[in-house]
Amino acid sequence: MADLPFSNLSLPRAQLENLERLGYRTMTPIQAAALPLAFAGRDLIARAKTGSGKTAAFSLPLLDKLNPRDFGTQALVLCPTRELATQVADEIRRLARYRQNIKVVTLCGGQSIGPQIGSLEHGAHIVVGTPGRIGDHLRKTTLNLARIKTLVLDEADRMLEMGFIDDIRAIVEHTPASRQTLLFSATYPEDIQTLSRQFQREPEQVSLESLH
Ligand code: ADP
Ligand code: MG
Repeated sequence: MADLPFSNLSLPRAQLENLERLGYRTMTPIQAAALPLAFAGRDLIARAKTGSGKTAAFSLPLLDKLNPRDFGTQALVLCPTRELATQVADEIRRLARYRQNIKVVTLCGGQSIGPQIGSLEHGAHIVVGTPGRIGDHLRKTTLNLARIKTLVLDEADRMLEMGFIDDIRAIVEHTPASRQTLLFSATYPEDIQTLSRQFQREPEQVSLESLH
C-alpha cells in the first residue's frame, strides 16, 4: 500500500502543520486503516504490534471531537501501566499543540491521590490512566465520566491479563452509551471478543496483518 499523507484526512490546517513539525509525514498502515473509520465515528477493534503508531490512531480523532470550552472530561484512555499511560499522555499533548487550552491529566496508582484530585478540580478534557486508579476516583466521585465522547482501551489484551476486567466494567458503566469506543490490542483472544461484544456498537475491525 502506498504511504498516504495526513492531508488525505479532513484535519484542520493547524493540525497538519503540527504533524509536519512533529515529523509525521505519512500515515503508518494502522493509522491509514483506522483513522478514516474513527473520524467517521465508528467503534473500532484495531490490532497491530508495538511501535506501529496506534497512539495517534486514537488520539487524532478524540482531539478533533473535543470542545475546549467544556471543562467536563470528554475523552478517557485506559492503559495497563503507569509507564504506558505517561507515554500516551505525552503523545496526546504533542498532538494537541495545534489547539489551545486542552488539558490532559494522568491518573495512575503508585502516586498520591490528593494532587490528582486537585488537577481534576481544575478541569481535565482528557484523562489517561490505569483502570485501578480510575476506579478509585469514580468511587470517591472525584471523576465524572458523564460527558465522555471517546473511550479508548489501549493494550486491552494486557489489561485483561493483569486482571483489570472488573475495573473496566465499572468504568464503562459510568460513561454514556452514545460514546465512541476504540479498542486497541496486539492479540485478539476470546476474552477480548467478549469485551468488544459488551462495550462496542457494530465495531469495525482493522488488523495490520491483513494490510500486507
Ligand atoms: P504503538 O502504540 O503502536 O506501540 P506509538 O503510538 O507509541 O506505537 O508510536 C511509535 C512511535 O512512532 C512514536 O515515537 C511515535 O511518535 C511515532 N509515530 C507514530 N506515528 C507516526 C507517523 N505517522 N510518522 C512518524 N512517526 C510516527
Ligand atoms: Mg501503544
